[in-house]
Amino acid sequence: MQPSRYNFFFDAENGTHLAFNALSGGLATLTEEKHRQVQEILRSPNSYRYDSQAKLELREKLLQGGFLLREGVDELDILKVRYRSSRFNPRPLKLTILPTLRCNFRCIYCYEGRKNITMSREIQRGLVEFVRKKTEGVESLTTSWYGGEPLLALDIIAYLRGEFAKICEAKGIKYSPGGIVTNGYLLTRDVAKRLKEMGIETAQVTLDGPREVHDQRRPLANGRGSFDRIMENLSQVSKVLKQIQIRVNTDRNNADRVLELLDAIEDYGLKGKVSIYFAKVMAHTEACASIAGSCLRDQEYTDLELRLTKGGLEKGFNLAKYPRPKFHYCEADHVNSFVVGPSGYLYKCWSDPGNPDEAVGHVSDPTKYEEKKRNVLKWLAWDVFEREECRECKLLPVCLGGCPYVGLRLETRTRGACDNWRYNLLGMLKLYYAGRLSNPLRQGVGRAKGGKEVA
Ligand code: SF4
Ligand code: SF4
Repeated sequence: MQPSRYNFFFDAENGTHLAFNALSGGLATLTEEKHRQVQEILRSPNSYRYDSQAKLELREKLLQGGFLLREGVDELDILKVRYRSSRFNPRPLKLTILPTLRCNFRCIYCYEGRKNITMSREIQRGLVEFVRKKTEGVESLTTSWYGGEPLLALDIIAYLRGEFAKICEAKGIKYSPGGIVTNGYLLTRDVAKRLKEMGIETAQVTLDGPREVHDQRRPLANGRGSFDRIMENLSQVSKVLKQIQIRVNTDRNNADRVLELLDAIEDYGLKGKVSIYFAKVMAHTEACASIAGSCLRDQEYTDLELRLTKGGLEKGFNLAKYPRPKFHYCEADHVNSFVVGPSGYLYKCWSDPGNPDEAVGHVSDPTKYEEKKRNVLKWLAWDVFEREECRECKLLPVCLGGCPYVGLRLETRTRGACDNWRYNLLGMLKLYYAGRLSNPLRQGVGRAKGGKEVA
């Protein structure tokens, strides 16, 4: 037997010993005595004297939680197989569809370049035919809806969703109509009911702070504020939709104010009914290059994320993220996932729609696939195991090289775009544990799915 290379041992704020394994996602709490025994077992697992039932059981738990491995198991091989088989598994087809790039907001950091394009009837029909062909041999189709503001094109969503459902039913394929990313302004109770009838029961809505801050950063196209209407909508639709996620885009300009949003969420009766997560504003494309100066550096952002999570805990919000082991990073690195722009161009990454130079094909023009082949190859040839720092990194199972869009643009070829876990894994786990202690009944709120707890 041998110890895992992905073990982390650390103490929670209250002095409890915690153990985390990044490959299994297992988290264990250990008494002083157990902690000492575990350390001894992991130091010499083959010569340790397992002279009681309790010690044998402890060894079994360590094996189950992935802290201890049977002889000859190479964890890097496990990860490689998991990563490559998941990325190159063609059986699920996943589409993120942008029915329009039009938007009723003028967010200060928008990266879509304010293009006024909506999917034409011809492109919609082309997309339906594309799905008909692409679903040959697949087991499932998942769609998600994004924009622009996708609710400006609700009829297009309804049409496409209906056609996809017919195709999947005829072929015996499982269809998940998925979730929608919306600014929330048009997400009234009636619209939510319509979405629900279509099977779209998850909405992600962005709020950037309390009213004054949000309205300055995410105004309507006419310059007016959007906060009050979004909050009113959310308090109505939280009873209709299954899940509402609030994303809080964070940079230097709102960092000190975002926690005030939690008070507003409480005032609107949404506490415990929505999940909330913080995200770093990034100047990915030329369209948002002007905001680069207000973006936080990685370490600054992750320090802030810990402060905000701790502040949330003090207000009774359990916002800690859990470091879930990944199979692949995002849809961009999966062979059968595409982002569909309103002009019919296919992309791999959410940052690219509106920029045909980065397309990997077109729904109704097969010649475009040949023309864009180098773009497809770029995404699919990306492989975190070719980066030597990543191969040696203890965070590899939860990071997997970070965002490929950024990783492909890095000057260094020795590592990927280190994910936030590089900077705050232990701090976040301590907060996750503290959140469970303070509010065990609400542990699911704000927590990423997955991650076994083994003791
Ligand atoms: S490559 Fe990066 S930016 Fe693009 S979809 Fe993946 S995580 Fe998002
Ligand atoms: S990108 Fe950075 S944190 Fe992620 S696995 Fe590679 S070296 Fe580790």
